[in-house]
Amino acid sequence: MSTENQDELFSFDDETHPHDDAGEANTWRILIVDDDVDVHQSTGFALANTEVFGRQLEFLHAYSAAEAVAVLREQKHIAVILLDVVMEADDSGLQLVRIIRKELGNTEARIILRTGQPGYAPEMEAIRDYDINDYKTKSELSRNRLYTALTAAVRSYDQISALNASRRGLSMVIRASSQLMARQGVSEFAAGIITQICGLFGLPPEGVVCAYDQSNRPDQALVIAAAGSLTNCINQYLDALPDHAIAHALSQCLRERVNNYGAHFTTLFFPGQAHNDMAAYLQTEKPLNELDKQLLEVFCTNITITLDNVQLLTQLKDHAYNDQLLHIPNRLAFVHALDRSLREDNRSATTLALIDIDGFSELNDALGHQHGDALLRAVVERLQQRLPADTLLARVAGDVFGILATTQMLDQANLIELFRQPLALEQINQNLSATIGLTCLDQIDGNGNDALKAANIALKHGKQHQRGEICHFTRDMEFETRARVRLLQNLRSAFDRERLFVVYQPQISLATRQLIGVEALLRWRNDDGSFVPPCDFIPLAESSGLIISLGEWVLRSACHDLKKLMKSSGQPLRMAVNVSVMQFRQPNYLETLDRALAESGIDPRLLELEITESVAMLEPGFMISLLNEIKARGICIAIDDFGTGFSSLSYLEQLNVDRLKIDISFVRQMEQSDGSRRIVETIIQLGKSLQLELIAEGIEQTSQAELLTRLGCHEGQGYLFSKPLELPALLAFMQTP
Ligand code: C2E
Ligand code: MG
Ligand code: MG
Repeated sequence: MSTENQDELFSFDDETHPHDDAGEANTWRILIVDDDVDVHQSTGFALANTEVFGRQLEFLHAYSAAEAVAVLREQKHIAVILLDVVMEADDSGLQLVRIIRKELGNTEARIILRTGQPGYAPEMEAIRDYDINDYKTKSELSRNRLYTALTAAVRSYDQISALNASRRGLSMVIRASSQLMARQGVSEFAAGIITQICGLFGLPPEGVVCAYDQSNRPDQALVIAAAGSLTNCINQYLDALPDHAIAHALSQCLRERVNNYGAHFTTLFFPGQAHNDMAAYLQTEKPLNELDKQLLEVFCTNITITLDNVQLLTQLKDHAYNDQLLHIPNRLAFVHALDRSLREDNRSATTLALIDIDGFSELNDALGHQHGDALLRAVVERLQQRLPADTLLARVAGDVFGILATTQMLDQANLIELFRQPLALEQINQNLSATIGLTCLDQIDGNGNDALKAANIALKHGKQHQRGEICHFTRDMEFETRARVRLLQNLRSAFDRERLFVVYQPQISLATRQLIGVEALLRWRNDDGSFVPPCDFIPLAESSGLIISLGEWVLRSACHDLKKLMKSSGQPLRMAVNVSVMQFRQPNYLETLDRALAESGIDPRLLELEITESVAMLEPGFMISLLNEIKARGICIAIDDFGTGFSSLSYLEQLNVDRLKIDISFVRQMEQSDGSRRIVETIIQLGKSLQLELIAEGIEQTSQAELLTRLGCHEGQGYLFSKPLELPALLAFMQTP
């Protein structure tokens, strides 16, 4: 059995065929081994024209042990050997028997030992060990006795060789099935069926396999594999096959659901699960014998089980490597493809891009998942239309698509064009922008995952600094990302080790200089006493989700401390707490709020939540109802850093907030820059017309406080009055008149 090449399916040599031509010959081959020429002749005479079980005898002759070995090496299917014990040496015959059984491995041929002189009888052990059928002295062997002995030996040979043939056949069926099992996908499997069966019977591979076309015409059987002269039938429906006889045989097989052994062909039926039946047509030329049919039945049963497994595996593989919503490769498949590309020599020829739809999760929240799915489908369609044909497109995360293409194709201009036109989606034109992270594979040291990581770093970078644009991966970005990861780890551990604390910055009435409230601000002190500024770690906490637990902790600390402040001063004080959009998006945010209020027992009207204009990015309906729920508890809402975002005026009005916080940048500039001053004026006018309270942040100069008062802003916060203070310092601040 040649199995050197695993890909090449069985190539059967003569010996391994359970049933081949010589086996079906019309004679029994008898080898006479004797150094006495007369014995050859007399045996020939004695048995001339005799039939044994309906077959003639065919004699082969050898005059020495060496000649006998040569004959046995060359000729197959020798049924009986009539062997002279004493030839060149006294034990030549027995030596030869040993060679036949042990060295030539011939266990089927029956052996009758003959000797001229009595007294040369072999030991009983030898007769047993070498499987010798008979031992006779030549004088004993009359014609009749010779005939009887020979008949018995031939019968025994026939039984042994039939048993061996079916045993060999069965083991080949099992091997063939397990080889088939390794085939990937149904059509490859089907092709394997042809090769394996034809191999099994030593036929040239000529055949076709058909199955119902599940994806296009489920009522039609399609040729899914074909071999030999029938190769051109592949992918044709049965009714379109040029050879009507084949089409007819296959349709009949599928209809009757049984194997059919014809005179020149064989059709085999393989029942599959859920209308996945298959039928095979094989050109067998002559009718198969019983053993062949039995083996085929075993093979078919075995294969049917295998086919089920293949169909299951195909399905599993599809799930493992394909995105079930968008029907394109998934992340795993993409990483494998990257691995392959990275093994190629010319890495600079291939570029990896990650495309992230800007604001997809907001759109998804706002318009519902069905719309989100439709949007993703439209994006895939657009990408498939616009990208070159040999591009690999995969979905690597919710709204992130991976593209692997030639560097030449993925140039800036092509990518920018992708979403310039709106997507037609459910009769509306949806404008989209996408941020793209890009890396050429020659930048990558590691494997597919590392490549994806690099492109993702570029993408993240783009999201932060160049939304809607293309960002190329650089080594610096990698360092930056590592630094961010380290910072985030440190932040987590600082939080766990209670290295974070809250400070409070007084808010003042500009007219009376009286303390009216405080803003809670988070602080992180390193082990060496230095501080990490919030503008470094808050965005990190936001993007990692840590802000949810961090924000809750700040809220509870602030409420708790407010309780203490009021106890010591006796006067009501407003407590402003910053809240991130991410916290708002938490489904249980209201419960968190209620818990903090209940725990501290503070008056909800003293609590103010500061949100930034980015809340405008959240779905309006959702935001309006959430803010109403919050306001229904008596809690106030302020819009922080007002003027830096893009909230629309009508939306602002609907949001039902209490206060606008004029951003520090305008306050800082307003005395030098007319533009900034006019913005401050406008915000104040806007606040007045919407009947909102106003507070200015970042007041450092008396002149700024005075100008703000003149313009109509009556509250302020800034270093001019006080820096953010720890609780004891704040208590002291409150004591000073
Ligand atoms: P913000 O809410 O606008 O806070 C005001 C920032 O201005 C604070 O910076 C404060 O220290 C600073 N500031 C106040 N007066 C002056 C002044 O006169 N001059 C100057 N130059 N700066 C002044 P901080 O504490 O560094 O906080 C930065 C930002 O981090 C905050 O801006 C807020 O957006 C965020 N943040 C701080 N704590 C929290 C928190 O607990 N949760 C959330 N979500 N964000 C927080
Ligand atoms: Mg604030
Ligand atoms: Mg601010």
